Amino acid sequence: MRIGFIGMGQMGAAMAGNLVRAGHELAVWNRSAQKCGPLVAAGALLAASPREAAGGKSVVITMLADDAALEGVLAGEDGLLAGLAPGALHVSMSTIAVATADQLAARHAARDQRYVSAPVFGRPEAAAAAKLYVVAAGDPADLASAAPLFAAIGQRVFFVGRVASNANLVKLCGNFAILSTIETMAEAMALAEKGGVPKAKLLEVLLGTLFDAPVFRNYGAILVEQRFRPAGFAAPLGLKDMRLVGQAAEALRVPMPTLGVLWDHLLGTLANEGEDIDWSGIGRTVAKSGGL
Ligand code: NAP
Repeated sequence: MRIGFIGMGQMGAAMAGNLVRAGHELAVWNRSAQKCGPLVAAGALLAASPREAAGGKSVVITMLADDAALEGVLAGEDGLLAGLAPGALHVSMSTIAVATADQLAARHAARDQRYVSAPVFGRPEAAAAAKLYVVAAGDPADLASAAPLFAAIGQRVFFVGRVASNANLVKLCGNFAILSTIETMAEAMALAEKGGVPKAKLLEVLLGTLFDAPVFRNYGAILVEQRFRPAGFAAPLGLKDMRLVGQAAEALRVPMPTLGVLWDHLLGTLANEGEDIDWSGIGRTVAKSGGL
């Protein structure tokens, strides 16, 4: 398939690499062009603009930091919207707001372009290993067109409905659940440690009894080893996601009291540790507040 891929960050570069390896013909674009180097070396073409990345392709994929970054590549005469042909498909894989995805679906429909949301679960290591979980929503025919691409980057695809933004809502719910789990694990580890039980021992018991799940295994090990740098998922992106959870909760009138705790701990972590820490660095904030 001829694909345009926009966004060569930690996730995008790994996903694009797997698409090239699967035999797809890629044109890549990134704001900082030098990050396209490894993909070009692997056989991708370098596009001069988002418009050129999208032009003449049946599919364009975006994997960008946030809503503002996406808007930056969409609009204007060099933008994706101007380049994508009628009938061609935009697969938006960034974690963006539910409302933004709704607007995007309408903007594409007005140009006879197709649109699906397909955000992912999994950190950069999972992206590199083609082990992402893809959460996809949109018109079933459009999702069928994108299926070979999902197969090249992920281990499983979940279809969550015809309304594209439903996928974004599921992704935000998932990230809220992940960070809540990190928070409760960090609180339990602080309690155990202060009482004289090493946090590694507590984790061994949790994993060996009722909590043998990837989120406990992966983030539990990060918390025990305090492996917060280099960030796999940077705290500013985590803060962005909790803001988007709050926006969705406000729009749908759903109180989420735990969200306030997560928000404050992420902000405190950023204030004390800097912008380059992983979002699981809230474990350090929790430990410090317990006097550890
Ligand atoms: P990242 O490494 O920080 O990459 C961000 C990308 O967005 C880069 O290509 C960056 O370009 C681009 N960008 C930022 N601001 C821009 C702007 N104003 N205009 C144009 N491009 C802009 O982030 P990531 O970890 O790959 O995450 C990408 C998306 O995936 C985010 O929505 C994130 O929430 C989501 N996600 C991440 C993970 C994870 O574990 N990392 C897991 C699942 C989902 P430059 O290179 O020029 O800065």
